[in-house]
Order: sequence, then structure tokens, then C-alpha cells
Amino acid sequence: MAIESMNPATGELIRRFDPLTEDAIHQKLALASEAFKSYAAVPMGHRALCMRKLANLLEEDAVELAEMITMEMGKPIKASHAELTKCAAACRYYAENAVRMLAPESITTEASRSFVRWDPLGVVLAVMPWNFPFWQVFRFLAPALMAGNVGLLKHAPNVPQCALAIESLVRRAGFPRGTFQTLLIETSQVDGVLADERIVAVTLTGSETAGRAVGAQAGWLIKKSLLELGGSDPFIVMSSADLDLAVENAVQSRCINSGQSCIAAKRFVIHAGIYEEFERLFVSAMASMRVGDPMLDETQIGPLATRRQLENLDQQVNAAITAGARLLTGGRRILGPGYYFEPTVLSGLPRTAPVYRDEIFGPVALLFKVNHLDEAIRTANDTPFGLAASAWTRDPDEQQRLVAEIQAGSVFVNKMVASDPRLPFGGIKHSGYGRELSAAGMREFMNAKTVVIA
Ligand code: NDP
Repeated sequence: MAIESMNPATGELIRRFDPLTEDAIHQKLALASEAFKSYAAVPMGHRALCMRKLANLLEEDAVELAEMITMEMGKPIKASHAELTKCAAACRYYAENAVRMLAPESITTEASRSFVRWDPLGVVLAVMPWNFPFWQVFRFLAPALMAGNVGLLKHAPNVPQCALAIESLVRRAGFPRGTFQTLLIETSQVDGVLADERIVAVTLTGSETAGRAVGAQAGWLIKKSLLELGGSDPFIVMSSADLDLAVENAVQSRCINSGQSCIAAKRFVIHAGIYEEFERLFVSAMASMRVGDPMLDETQIGPLATRRQLENLDQQVNAAITAGARLLTGGRRILGPGYYFEPTVLSGLPRTAPVYRDEIFGPVALLFKVNHLDEAIRTANDTPFGLAASAWTRDPDEQQRLVAEIQAGSVFVNKMVASDPRLPFGGIKHSGYGRELSAAGMREFMNAKTVVIA
């Protein structure tokens, strides 16, 4: 894909960027590597000061930045504001807590002193997607810079202005030159950057395909990698659940970011005892979601981010119907300019259909009826992915079993899944490995150095 800002609400090209030349990439790598040598010695207090300034800048420039996000990838403007607020909160969280998280850990042995100290690793490459063009970057950036690492960002090609804005914000916040740079490069240039000896590790958020390519190369190079890939998260509703609350959260979770979130609920596993009622309420709520101009405050679902996303979603819905799924509402592209798709609900997709195993990235929900808890757990786990799950029941025994038996990086009970800087975030199975956020996320790109003093 060309590196260009294209408004998904209109299909209009805003600006095209040339990819960096090999020379320009080398200059940036050299700068990053030099920056690490001095930045690793910058005291935590100063890093925290810059991080707090960064949070302030995100808030001061929120109107302009939110419009940029919405213009480049189409999410409703209110959601763009919420994304920036969350980034600012993460900056403050790490500014506040990094010293505690990185304090040496004493371990009693026969030696006079033994402990673990946390050293930064160096220059980390971040390959990021377009769906949360600020948040995906900030959840890497805030802990990495507080830890003393240096970042290079290869952002998705449809959000170059967001990528450049992030670099500029970091600089204005007072972080030393070269601490965080954006590389406007194409897919084919990533392996050269990753192979460069000045890069010590890579973090990638995106599709399974991208994760496999980058993870395989990092493995071969023996460089640390963290992969946050797709999800097909289950949303399980048992008969004792508060049905109205479950439906409200189900719709919100499926439609967040116009359905383009890794932790959106995608498969709704509903107990037979309440299935008919759930289906009626859910279909009606999905059908009444306001789809439209993402710049308007009242819009709940905007266009999909790119024409390719729209075509892929359209193809997945058609494949599901062809395979035998029943269409309960929506199902079509919305004609006219922009990449809009109707909020859609499908039921009874046969488990043998190839699309059953896909991540569906758009406002399209799949409903499954189950007869008992065992079947609910089996259905929830019947996916290559294992990112997160939301389970709705007031029965403590059911809660316990769901928490223990769901195969996912997170299980939220009677709550929709959301990331939180205080909690580890990441998946198992094909959803990737490693954790972001919390102390666990910060330590992914650090050397846990064992020190023993006789
Ligand atoms: P990609 O995974 O292709 O893109 C994510 C990032 O990875 C981009 O910066 C992309 O850059 C880069 N990338 C992709 N392939 C490679 C590679 N071989 N080597 C190095 N970097 C690479 O996502 P798409 O935008 O193509 O979306 C496709 C599907 O992926 C979606 O429909 C959705 O299912 C899933 N997805 C999931 C996300 C999540 O948060 N879980 C986020 C985004 C997508 P470039 O485009 O230049 O190749």
C-alpha cells in the first residue's frame, strides 16, 4: 500500500508521502543508536517530567489531533477524543509508577547481596496498525521511554500524519532528539531495518500474517519480539445474566471503533434459555446504531478505514451467508462515497465454514446458541485466537469455571473487555505472545539482569 492519507468517509486523497530512502533510514538508525547511549543515563525524574509534558500536549492539541485521526482512519470523532485521553492517562501512569516498577528486586541467597536490576535494551522497532493510530503506539511508547529504551515507529501506511504528529509531540515534550522517530517506510523495507544490528527488539500489533513474517525474522535474528495479533473474542451470556446490561455491552463491544478492534466481541455465545430474547434485543439495538459522518458527535459507526477493509468485510459476510448463516439485519455495503458497511448480525454460521475461523474486522456480529456451560466454553475456545473474552453470568460457579477454562489472555466477568494501563494486555494461541501495559509490559523490553555480590 502507498503511504497516503485518504479520507475513508469520502475516498478523497489528502496527501501522499514518499517512503524514506535507504540513506535516510540509516541516518535515523544512527541517530536512534546515539540517542540511546545518552538517554539510558537520563534520570527517571527527568523522563517522568517529559512524559507528563507529553500527556499535557496530547490534551492541549486534542481538537486538532482528534480531527487528524478521524480524517485518516474514519473513527467517530468522540472516539478519537477518547483515544487521546487514554494516551495521556497512560503517559501519566508510567510517569508515576516507573520508578516502583523498575526498582531492583532483592532475592535472598547465600551471597551477601543478590538482586535483579532492570536495564533498558536499546532501540526497539514498533510496527503498528491503523485502528487506534495513537493508542497502539502510546501503549508501547510510554513504558518504553520511561524504561530508557528508544523507539522507531513503522506505522500503517494509511496513517502517516498521525505517525509524524506523534514524533513531533514526543520532541516537543522535551525528550532528547532521536528518542522516538517515525520511519515512513514500506513493508518491503521493514526486514532491512529489523536486521540492522542497531535494532535490538521488535513489537508488532496487527494481523496474523504480519505477525508471522516479523516474528519469524526476529526469531532467526535472535531478537526479542512481542506480537499482539488479532482476536475473535467470545462474548458469553448465560441465563442468569442481567440481560439488558449484557445486550448494551454486547453492542458497544462489537461496534467500538466501527468494529475494528482486536478486543471487540466478535462471537456471541448465548445460552438457549435466553437466546430468543437476547437475539431480539441485540438485533434491534444493532440495527438502530447511527452510521454516518465520523466528524459528527452523534455518529456511532463511521466508515471502515480503507477500501480493502470494506471489500474484505463484504466478502466475509457473503461467504458466511453462502455457507449457511442466517442474516438477521444489515449485510451490505452502504452505497455512495466512503467505505461504509451496515451493522450486521448473522446467526448459525456452520463451524466448518472457513470464515468461522477468521477475525471479522467491522460491525458484524455472529450469534451462536448453546445449551449448557460446557458447550459455551467449548464454543468460546473453538477459535485459533486467544486474546480476551467477556462472560456474563451471576452464578458464582459458572463464573469460576469460565475464568478457569476460557483460553484467552484476559477474561472479564460482567464487563466488556477494555485495555487499562494498570493491567497486562496480550494474548495466547494465534493472538500472539508477550504482554503490553502494566509492569509486565514495561519489562518486555528490558534486561532482567541478575546481580550476585559474594
Ligand atoms: P496488517 O497486519 O497488515 O498491518 C499492521 C502493520 O503491520 C502495518 O504497519 C503493516 O504495514 C505491517 N505489516 C504487514 N505485513 C508486514 C510484513 N510482512 N512485514 C512487516 N510489516 C508488516 O493489517 P491490515 O491493515 O492489512 O489489516 C488486515 C487485517 O488484520 C484486518 O482485517 C484485521 O483482521 C487484522 N488487524 C488486526 C489488528 C488488531 O489490532 N488486532 C490491527 C490491524 C489489523 P504495511 O501495511 O505497510 O504492510
